[in-house]
Amino acid sequence: MADKYCVFCGNKPVNKTKEHILPKWLIEITGPKNRLARFPSLNDASQEYSFSNFVFPACETCNVKYGILESESKPIIEKMLNNSVLSANEIEVLLDWVDKIRIGLWLSMCIRDKNIYNLEPNFYIQGRIGTKDRAIFISKTNLHRKLDCAVIQTIHAFNEDQSQLEYDSVRGVFVEGDKLYPNSGFNERNHIQLCIRNPNCIKGYFHPRKMNDAFPSP
Ligand SMILES: [Zn+2]
Repeated sequence: MADKYCVFCGNKPVNKTKEHILPKWLIEITGPKNRLARFPSLNDASQEYSFSNFVFPACETCNVKYGILESESKPIIEKMLNNSVLSANEIEVLLDWVDKIRIGLWLSMCIRDKNIYNLEPNFYIQGRIGTKDRAIFISKTNLHRKLDCAVIQTIHAFNEDQSQLEYDSVRGVFVEGDKLYPNSGFNERNHIQLCIRNPNCIKGYFHPRKMNDAFPSP
């Protein structure tokens, strides 16, 4: 049964504990800790949970082992929130932590939806940390497209689990904003967004030059 395995090792939980897939410390530094969160579902409607109830089974030893990764990650996220520069080692830890979270969310979705596709996961958190080329893109913006991100990540997790082809990059057209003029096909904030998943697709990059304050920012 899908709800009887440890999210870390995939075995029947030994000395069963509850793993917060989204760690309590993250919830607390990003808003009121008792707030409700809406999670997308493979089923019809999305589901609303208190973060404190968003827990899944885990062995005691697995939970303790990966608790170390959590405690290493918290100060790194705090540094990022303070706009501090991360070291190479901290970035490695951050990437491991993101692996833990993303695989945890994928498994949680299977468990929450009562496994509607009869999907038996072929991997669990422990087997997926640090095993692939990884890239994360972080930007500060007032526009949050969390559902778009969840859709893309879920498709990839599904492909990964079923040994299907993984995509190197994803490109999308986004039509946003008001029409520029009556009957226009152009909107104020239309744009094309490109997400590179395979960092080897990036052959080079440049450092944007410093702004010259004597001129306006375009
Ligand atoms: Zn375990």
